Amino acid sequence: MADKKGKRAKSKSKHRISKKYEKYKVEGDKIIRNREFCQKCGPGVFLGERKLEGKTVYYCGTCFSTIEKKE
Ligand SMILES: [Zn+2]
Repeated sequence: MADKKGKRAKSKSKHRISKKYEKYKVEGDKIIRNREFCQKCGPGVFLGERKLEGKTVYYCGTCFSTIEKKE
């Protein structure tokens, strides 16, 4: 009988975990997005919120485009 040794290499990742999950809110079985996605970059690229000339705009850090917030 062979011994069952649980060989599990512990990976010490040097990289920080992406904080994308913080931008999601899960309520029950629904996922609520706190942020809009960039229409140019597609899903996965979140937009930041900025105040520009009194208006709130979404700012994409990937393609550097600003999108006006629709109320
Ligand atoms: Zn973009």
